[in-house]
Amino acid sequence: MTLHHRTFDTVVIGGGQAGPSLASKLDARGEKVAVFQEGPFGGTCLNDGCRPTKALRASAHAARAARDGARYGVHVDGVTVNVAEAVERKDALIDGWRQGATDYYENHETISYVTARARLEGKQGDLYAVRCGDGADDVVTAPRIIINTGARSVPPAVPGLDAVDYLDHHTLLDLKEAPARLIVIGGSYIGLELGQIWARFGSHVTILEHGQRVASREDADISEMVADMLRDEGLDIRTGAAIARVDQSDAGVTVTFEDGTTLEGDRVLVAAGRVPNSDDLGLDTVGVATNKRGYIDTDEHFLTSTPGIYAVGDVNGRGAFTHTSYQDHEILADHLAGGDRSVARRISTYAMFTDPPLGRVGLTKADAVAQGLNVSVADYQFKDLTRAALDGVTAGLMRLVIDEDADRLVGAAVFGLAGDEVVQALSLLMHVDGPASALETWLPIHPTVAEFLPTVYRARGPVEG
Ligand SMILES: Cc1cc2nc3c(=O)[nH]c(=O)nc-3n(C[C@H](O)[C@H](O)[C@H](O)COP(=O)(O)OP(=O)(O)OC[C@H]3O[C@@H](n4cnc5c(N)ncnc54)[C@H](O)[C@@H]3O)c2cc1C
Repeated sequence: MTLHHRTFDTVVIGGGQAGPSLASKLDARGEKVAVFQEGPFGGTCLNDGCRPTKALRASAHAARAARDGARYGVHVDGVTVNVAEAVERKDALIDGWRQGATDYYENHETISYVTARARLEGKQGDLYAVRCGDGADDVVTAPRIIINTGARSVPPAVPGLDAVDYLDHHTLLDLKEAPARLIVIGGSYIGLELGQIWARFGSHVTILEHGQRVASREDADISEMVADMLRDEGLDIRTGAAIARVDQSDAGVTVTFEDGTTLEGDRVLVAAGRVPNSDDLGLDTVGVATNKRGYIDTDEHFLTSTPGIYAVGDVNGRGAFTHTSYQDHEILADHLAGGDRSVARRISTYAMFTDPPLGRVGLTKADAVAQGLNVSVADYQFKDLTRAALDGVTAGLMRLVIDEDADRLVGAAVFGLAGDEVVQALSLLMHVDGPASALETWLPIHPTVAEFLPTVYRARGPVEG
């Protein structure tokens, strides 16, 4: 919590997944660096995003495996889930990581790491001014500013919702008991992941998605498979859900739909959209431009419209993941050292951590066709994979999307057992710009999910219809 100087070479506003690592690299190059971070070390990912949700996902997976044991000849009677203990396990993991990193940065001899909100406040001479408190002395200056302030969830504009004690991804993670009936507003990645976890913890979960399908960024048939997998587990998935209003009721919460029907729940989780944390940064005082949705405009090296000011992570709209933010830091560090890395060649990749998960890279089938490529597609059902049968996890589909003219894989979806890992072999092939036909001669390990990639590749054919 020490400001070692008043004037720095670089000031980082926001300690997300890029800022602290950038600070360390610039410090190692001899720069004077300050990081201002509002809230606990680690930003969204560590505190209320990726890691805590995956810790609880592991507990939910264990619950499912215990209940399902008889299928494997393992009989477990009277399975109960103690949500408080699952949350304790999650907290122990997160607290340990957070404490170690906090100690490192707060006690750093040269990096100034300050737990405070910061905002830009114009210029002092040639330097940018950053305010981190109300006092006259709470201003530091630097010729270079790096913004890494992330994004936050926002509730949809549903009448009545603001008067309801609703849950978000932050408060849900600390519940000590599973609500008997949990309504989830939002059928995208976060809503589906959290809905499945709490269903496995014992809640009756209803997912309300206003669009016509969940996980709507995916090919329609894959969205449908995801919904079917969750329905098979007992989740009630309602698409085209037109919510008229939400009210607190004696029982808990009542959702009223536009057709007059209602749905009662004990708690409601809102997981329906995020906005960038760019609105209270004083961007106007230094002329940094944003787009209509508030994301900071940057070039391929994350330089904003103002010289010397960079934006990395979710706030630049070039990714919405920890891995994209972390890679932003690598690219910017390289660029500032005179290297030639840029974000221009980044291939989109991510996973939805339902269980089984969906791993994705590059284009969907629909997008590849829309781009006019000479596309062939290979689909392979998980029920036909040896490893999926051995493990008894047979839901899902593996899809390769190939540009036949270029002999290049342009996209893949692996929804099924280990999909989050298997897709990475395909992502690497795309990253090194290797030929798709290499999948045919590659030697995979038996018996794994990935061993079927050569078979899947050979099964490709033209897109029908
Ligand atoms: C429930 C959930 C699950 C997720 N799961 C995954 C996953 O499995 N995999 C994955 O890759 N991504 C996941 N994400 C997304 C991931 O968490 C984010 O993409 C990632 O954390 C973004 O990092 P960032 O660097 O942009 O900033 P963040 O991690 O959002 O951190 C920004 C920090 O800046 C602080 N800040 C904001 N304004 C200021 C200011 N003015 N001054 C000082 N500090 C400020 C904020 O308080 C915050 O702590 C998940 C997100 C959620 C919500």
